[in-house]
Amino acid sequence: MATKLVLITFAICRLLITVGLTMDPAELLRLVVDGQLSMDPSDVETASKDFGLMSRAEPLAVMHPASAEDVTRLVRAAYSSAKSFSVSARGHGHSINGQAQARNGVVVEMSGGNRVGSGKPAAGRSETVGRVVSEKGLYMDAWGGELWIEVLRATLEYGLAPKSWTDYLYLSVGGTLSNAGISGQAFNHGPQISNVLEVDVVTGKGELLTCSEERNSELFHAVLGGLGQFGIITRARIALEPAPKRVRWIRVLYSNFSAFTKDQEYLISLHGQPSSQKFDYVEGFVIVDEGLINNWRSSFFSPSNPVKISSIDSNGNGGILYCLEITKNYDDSTADTIDQEIEALLEKLDFVPTSVFTTDLPYVDFLDRVHKAELKLRSKGLWDVPHPWLNLFVPKSRIADFDEGVFKGILGNKTSGPVLIYPMNNDKWDQQSSVVTPDEDVFYLVALLRSALDSGDETHTLEYLTDQNRRIFKFCDEAGIKIKQYLPHYTTQQEWMDHFGDKWPQFYQRKMEFDPRRILATGQRIFAGPS
Ligand code: FAD
Repeated sequence: MATKLVLITFAICRLLITVGLTMDPAELLRLVVDGQLSMDPSDVETASKDFGLMSRAEPLAVMHPASAEDVTRLVRAAYSSAKSFSVSARGHGHSINGQAQARNGVVVEMSGGNRVGSGKPAAGRSETVGRVVSEKGLYMDAWGGELWIEVLRATLEYGLAPKSWTDYLYLSVGGTLSNAGISGQAFNHGPQISNVLEVDVVTGKGELLTCSEERNSELFHAVLGGLGQFGIITRARIALEPAPKRVRWIRVLYSNFSAFTKDQEYLISLHGQPSSQKFDYVEGFVIVDEGLINNWRSSFFSPSNPVKISSIDSNGNGGILYCLEITKNYDDSTADTIDQEIEALLEKLDFVPTSVFTTDLPYVDFLDRVHKAELKLRSKGLWDVPHPWLNLFVPKSRIADFDEGVFKGILGNKTSGPVLIYPMNNDKWDQQSSVVTPDEDVFYLVALLRSALDSGDETHTLEYLTDQNRRIFKFCDEAGIKIKQYLPHYTTQQEWMDHFGDKWPQFYQRKMEFDPRRILATGQRIFAGPS
């Protein structure tokens, strides 16, 4: 206890000296009673970095909150001090470009620790913050820093699961909701931000508010896809459905891009059909280089499969293949009909007939598939490397031009990581949220998930891949392809204004209303730092 007090006092004194707070230290001390304010070098080091490993910004201190009240106290202190300091929530630090960092501020480590159920109801609120699974209401209340894998484990105890996912589950609820949260279910259910019923948010003024479509709706829409700009999400009420037991996971190959996208678009157009007549998940990826052998999402294929893949003629297509990835969920009640249902759907598609790869696995194993790849990469020392990732939303009308210019052009014969491509229906995205999508009914996610390595091959270096990203932007710009960045990263406000387009005035207005001193998530570099 004494050590904790010394640490806190030390942290606060350093804060006071550096940012010139006029607040009585004793008052600040009283604010941080439940959790911990740490200046431990290892805490500071962790909070200075992210998955991208390309930018670094040291905070002065790191807060491990015990409750939403802790977050409220900290933000209120930053808001009410004469000279403010930045406060950034950090989910699991899986950003690429320092979005969760807070130079000379305080990073709130939302994940880890054991705070579930420890929240206290805010004054005037009837709900209690904490993990609650409602079987009747089909929802779960999750702490904002909980990882999706934890949400899944908790809901499965009740035979339930969220409807919309990310490919990887070691991401935080608050972190993905601040972006969108997408995977192959998005065509059907929309992104994760379309599957949230209510959130508790600590605004930049240090107020803890419960928001939904009906209550504080402006803040509700602002924080969803809001890049952490308007508040820190401390609780999210996530919509659930009965969890399927098993998954039939299928991959089929195409050498023709237009046949591939035609089929993807057909499959996502079935979203309004009964579940027996559509797939539950539609994704895809591009196979550009050494085939699937070095692709970290390739564990699906058995050792004999690469031989079959190499026998598929892709020469007429510059050696490029496209892989459609689809799944169908089932349980005991549908186990008898699933084969017929899949066959009926596959019959309508135009893939290379000899290229059907199927596997069958428990639902959890399917959802947690990328974690297996992570463990493999970690064991080879290939996880903690720089990741110059690029995630783009490309309008459907220009995806063929993108294929010609980028997959068959700029990428050459090397990708340095998986290249995902799948379409989504825009009407599943709530236009009132802060996120921006292309102005077409259907748009594609193209995700270039590259790892930079010092392998002696120039095309694997960070410099080369970063330059390639620049060339992709330049190509889209010159070709007039109106892409939007997903998980956006810009360095000037003009670029952010262009990114938000018509939505900028509203985004700006919301910032002035909910975080007028520009305290929150300064690592996004949208607004000048705290005033
Ligand atoms: P962080 O990186 O810690 O934070 C991201 C931003 O959100 C920061 O600005 C931060 O300040 C803010 N923030 C964090 N928590 C809160 C909170 N509680 N309240 C308010 N603001 C908050 N994304 C997809 O959509 N689909 C995928 O399939 C997918 N797969 C991925 C796979 C891997 C291996 C990785 C590394 C990332 C993947 N992502 C995917 C991207 C992911 O959604 C983002 O990294 C996102 O930022 C979530 O990561 P995080 O929880 O670590 O958040």
